[in-house]
Amino acid sequence: MQIDVHAHVFNADDLPIRGFLRHRGVPEALAELVEEIIQSSTDPGFRAGLAAPMAATVSDAELLEAILARRPDLRAALRGQLLPPTVPGVQTLALIEWPALVYRFVSWARLLTKSHVEIAARLMSTYSKIDLFPPLMMDIGDWVGEQPPTSVPDQIAGMGQLIARPEIAGRMHPFVAFDPLRNDGLALVRGAISSGFIGVKLYPPLGYRPIGNAGPNGATIDQRLEDLYAFCEAEDVPIVAHCTRHGAEVDHHGIFADPDHWRPVLERHRSLRLDLAHFGSMEELLGPPYDDTPDPWPPKIVALMGDFSNVYVDVSYFDEIADRDAAAACMQKLATLYASNPAIARRVMYGSDWHMIMWAPAVDDYYRNFVAAYGPQFPSGLADFLGGNAERFLGLIAGAKAVQRLHVYYERNNFTKPAWLAGLSPA
Ligand SMILES: [Zn+2]
Repeated sequence: MQIDVHAHVFNADDLPIRGFLRHRGVPEALAELVEEIIQSSTDPGFRAGLAAPMAATVSDAELLEAILARRPDLRAALRGQLLPPTVPGVQTLALIEWPALVYRFVSWARLLTKSHVEIAARLMSTYSKIDLFPPLMMDIGDWVGEQPPTSVPDQIAGMGQLIARPEIAGRMHPFVAFDPLRNDGLALVRGAISSGFIGVKLYPPLGYRPIGNAGPNGATIDQRLEDLYAFCEAEDVPIVAHCTRHGAEVDHHGIFADPDHWRPVLERHRSLRLDLAHFGSMEELLGPPYDDTPDPWPPKIVALMGDFSNVYVDVSYFDEIADRDAAAACMQKLATLYASNPAIARRVMYGSDWHMIMWAPAVDDYYRNFVAAYGPQFPSGLADFLGGNAERFLGLIAGAKAVQRLHVYYERNNFTKPAWLAGLSPA
C-alpha cells in the first residue's frame, strides 16, 4: 500500500487567502493576483466579459492577460516585484516571457476556485500510484484575524461528504485541524475522528508552542493542548505538526515549531504518534552548500526519534528532489542517519504537500523523482518509505484502534471497505 501522508484538498472557501499568503511571505503583487483570480471566478460581470474565464479552454496566459487588462496597476506591480530590473525591455516584456513562477501561481489560484471533488480528482490523478491520501485541514482564522468563507465546522462536514463519494471512498481519510484558541476544539476533533477522519493537524507557527505557552492565554492554550494529547494517546490518534521555522508563520512565530518544544510533551505521552512534518526542513537536513542555517532542526528530530519510538517525519515540499545533485545529497544524508540508527529508516514517510507544492516547479514528477532517488539507494526500504511507515504511523495495523474505528465507519455508512482495510482484522 502506498500513502502520501501530507497533502491538501482545501479550496478558496476554506482559507482566509489574504492572511494566509501574507503570512507565507508571498510577494504582495502575486498575492493580489491570486485574489483577483479567485474573485473573478465568482464575479458574473467579469465572467461574461471573458467568456467563462475559468473554463478549461481558457489558457493561463489568456486568463492572466484578461485580469491585467483591467488592472494595469497590478501589471506594473508584478513587473516591479517579480522581474529583475536588469531584464532589457522589462517594461514591455510580453506576458509569455514572464517568470514561470507567475504561471505557477495562476494555475494554483485557478485550482483553488474548483470544488473539492475536482481538486481531489486532480490529486488522485496527479499521483495515481498512491492508494491513500490523508488530506490535512488548516484552521488559521483566529490567528491571522481573518475568517475563511466556510467555517471550520462546516469544512469538517464537507470533508465528511467528500470522502463518502463513491469515486473517493477508501482513498482519503483526512486529518482534522486543531486550533487551541477554540473552546470547542477537542469536541470538533472527537466528532471528526468518529466520522472517518484519521488524525489531527497542528500548526504551532501560527503562534503557540506545543506546550509551555506564556501570555494571558498561555495556561488555557496549554490545558487544551494537554487534553488533546491525552485524547490522542488514549485513542491512538496520530498528530501531524508543521515543523519548519518558516511556513504560514504569524509574527515570526515559526520558531514555536522547534522540535525541542515537543520533548516535554513526549515525555508525558510516550506512545503519542507524531509526524514532525517536513523533517524540520529538508534543506536544513542537507546542510552546506544547500543550506547554512545555524542550529539546524533535523538533528534535534533525530534525537527525538532515538528517544521516542512513535516520532516520525515526512519529506513533503522538498522541491529540490527535482535536482539530481540535491536528490543525491539527500539520499546520502539519509543513508548516514539510517546507518547510525536503523530504526530511523522506519520513521521517514513519503509526502508531497500537494497542492501547496504547486508553487514550485516539477510538481507532477514529485513522486517519480523520490522513487528514482530512494529506490536505488534503499531497495529494501522503498516500500516502507512509500507506505509501510505511514501505515504504522496512521495505526493501520490489525487490531489497532484506528482500524476498529474505520471498520465501524464503513459498516455504519454501508460503504464497501477498501482492500487495504478489508485485509486488516479489527480484533
Ligand atoms: Zn502542508
